[in-house]
Amino acid sequence: MATTVFTNAAFRGCTEPQDMLIEDGVFRMIGTHLLPKLAAQGYDLRDASIVDLTGHLVSAPFCDTHLHLDYVFTSRKPGAANTSGTLFEGIQRWGETKSDLTVDEVKGRARKAVAMEVRHGVQYIRTHADVTDPRLTSLRALLELREELKDLVTIQIVSFPQEGMYSYEGGAELVEEGLRMGADCVGAIPHYEACREFGERSMHTTVELASRYGKLIDVHCDETDDPNSRYVELLAALAGAEGIGTMTTASHTCSLGSADNSYFFHLTKLLRHARMNFACAPTENLYLQGRQDTFPKRRGITRVKELTDAGINVSLGQDSMQDPWYPLGNGNMMIILDYALHLAQMMTPHEIECALDLLTVNGATTLHLSDTYGIKEGNAANFIVLDAHNAFDAVYERADVVMSVRDGRTMFQATTTVDTPVPMLAEHLSTDAPMTAAPDWLIRA
Ligand SMILES: [Zn+2]
Repeated sequence: MATTVFTNAAFRGCTEPQDMLIEDGVFRMIGTHLLPKLAAQGYDLRDASIVDLTGHLVSAPFCDTHLHLDYVFTSRKPGAANTSGTLFEGIQRWGETKSDLTVDEVKGRARKAVAMEVRHGVQYIRTHADVTDPRLTSLRALLELREELKDLVTIQIVSFPQEGMYSYEGGAELVEEGLRMGADCVGAIPHYEACREFGERSMHTTVELASRYGKLIDVHCDETDDPNSRYVELLAALAGAEGIGTMTTASHTCSLGSADNSYFFHLTKLLRHARMNFACAPTENLYLQGRQDTFPKRRGITRVKELTDAGINVSLGQDSMQDPWYPLGNGNMMIILDYALHLAQMMTPHEIECALDLLTVNGATTLHLSDTYGIKEGNAANFIVLDAHNAFDAVYERADVVMSVRDGRTMFQATTTVDTPVPMLAEHLSTDAPMTAAPDWLIRA
């Protein structure tokens, strides 16, 4: 039996350092002063590994609730360059250049992206797979990858009709085929459909398919500055009536940044009733939206603060890494969080203290992970360690993730040392004691 005790962890909301006993990949015991307590109980720790976290902040792993793993690293393909920087040209460029995809090629790019995300503390990803392709190449690749990488990361896959359910020939049937093949979620893109009626029909189809197949829902919803794009209202009403609001996510909802408050007031009631989730991609939409504006120029972000204040769950996503929609993106969710806090103007002491929720528990709620997520006894021992000693400093410093543990196994450990001959810099930059870890148990676990 592989046993490890992680000591001196800082948990948000706890004043005393916490210890975690992990046996066979599961949190067995969590609390203060565990080593003397276990010794007093006659617990044999001779073969256990002891890892001193030296007061670093420990968190449940990050969730990236909106990503397109099939698109990553395609921005420099011939013909893929998006010269207008708009969402719609991105869709056009992708559509024009996707015919040469192969399963192995998609998997190769996606593997690299997953590695980058894991390095930044992500252990749960919801990826969309474009199914507006009769060969379903992206979906087949990502289904294989979900299984191949399950020890590193939990991947959920959305059967996503990038070019429309009803504007692409056979789109709705391809979405359904994707569900039969094993996708976790029904996807849609109503604001991209050729007309309002097609968009509305796609919302009805989405909820019907989710109910029939017992799947989650994640809709690219109102990703436009047009305040008249109001599919989120229909989605909430339909999912709420079906009793599957908590299994449903509206991604992007940029139009709420343009809508007036009377509509939002009405919508808030509906959303509370449905208990629907939101996924926001702040960097991506900051870049893509407002492209038809001169000045003032809209910033493309949904109402993260107002939704949060109304008790509605909001999580965050990287969305893109070097694809026809967005030329940057490295999987560092602390950057995504930083943008969200700025764009949504969320910097009260309470909002900063709770900011990591947007990447953790809120993400888990969006992904419908229920009680299996989080640092608690009986759960899989999945957690990350940040290069900070409390939540404020983690957000303030955009702290690096310096360790990621999954099923009790350390996936990586990072150390930063600063050498400087300048006394003033030395005094301020080299205060942290390094964390200790025995290398042999990494292999044994
Ligand atoms: Zn997206």
